[in-house]
Amino acid sequence: MPSLLVDNIGELVTNDAGRGEGGPLGIRRRVALLIEDGEVVWIGPTTDTPSADHRIDAAGSAVLPGFVDSHAHLVFAGDRAAEFAARMAGERYTGGGIRTTVGATRAASDSELRATVRRLRAEALRQGTTTIEIKSGYGLTVVDEARSLRIAAEVSTETTFLGAHVVPAEYAARPDDYVSLVCGPMLAAAAPHARWIDVFCERGAFDADHARAILTCGQAVGLGVRVHANQLGPGPGVQLGVELGAASVDHCTHLTDADVDALVSTRAGDEDGGTTTVATLLPGAEFSTRSPYPDARRLLDAGVTVALATDCNPGSSYTSSMPFCIALAVREMGMTPAEAVWAATAGGARALRRDDIGVLRPGARADLVILDAPSHLHLAYRPGVPLVRQVLHNGVPR
Ligand SMILES: [Zn+2]
Repeated sequence: MPSLLVDNIGELVTNDAGRGEGGPLGIRRRVALLIEDGEVVWIGPTTDTPSADHRIDAAGSAVLPGFVDSHAHLVFAGDRAAEFAARMAGERYTGGGIRTTVGATRAASDSELRATVRRLRAEALRQGTTTIEIKSGYGLTVVDEARSLRIAAEVSTETTFLGAHVVPAEYAARPDDYVSLVCGPMLAAAAPHARWIDVFCERGAFDADHARAILTCGQAVGLGVRVHANQLGPGPGVQLGVELGAASVDHCTHLTDADVDALVSTRAGDEDGGTTTVATLLPGAEFSTRSPYPDARRLLDAGVTVALATDCNPGSSYTSSMPFCIALAVREMGMTPAEAVWAATAGGARALRRDDIGVLRPGARADLVILDAPSHLHLAYRPGVPLVRQVLHNGVPR
């Protein structure tokens, strides 16, 4: 594969802590970056660049690792714009609309679902997202969960079985039977296409006992654990996730001190994040449901590892934009621009237990974003502006 030099980088966010300035962002200035076979192989001063087959001139702008969106629901049919409008007119979000999307998804053809997944994947990539986790969870039958994951796996290796999104209407009177279905034939059909298992552990969805049963079954067949936890109110999700060694607990909007302490405890002696349970915050959901935001400042000050993700889904957060989430996190959740950029790149990588993405150093994947701006600060400073000039995914300009 021909080599590619990205030259004249004004500010390079490496997330290689200890290299360069800016603390964990590891910022280096006036550098170039050489890519071979989809990997970063060299970073050094622009005055000393190696020869390469191709060259991109970054013209003094900022370059950062591609965004890692560790929480998205892209396999669905239909939309819920009317529900959004009703909510903005004063109705409260309860999560009940998920069943509307389940009906539409079951009725859709494979090619309709595939077209939606590909459209949203492309939309995210244009905004700088080079890795995106994709959940099932709108099929809720053996066949529909398996096909959701099969289609998701066509565009991402980070696929998550979320058969326990809600109890579908036909099982409303017998949730225990639905949990048995999820742990039995549904998991067996889903697992070959999934890396992770997830549960919506919330009042009105799955309680701690059901969630533990489902997550443990997933672990037994080799799936990693993630949990939708403490979104709509306080609950057992965060501490259950920690107990099971989850890579991430997601939402974390309503936390007790014990929840925060449990998350902090997972960082003990874990410099590289290999056993850390990350708190993944999804501010698009609070924005789209007009709800109070999670307190990122409290988590960061306590020493919890924080990630940002979109929660892209048709009901409660229909955005695929990581820059939008960065801007919300800074404006509404007490994060500094540097913390938000780290959380949207390296934080997302930790939430997926990956060390080859969310970072730019020799050996890392050449997933990077060239901004139309001189600094990463502009992602929060200029909200809503399309600042992504070019995206390289596996070293290939997209
Ligand atoms: Zn979600």
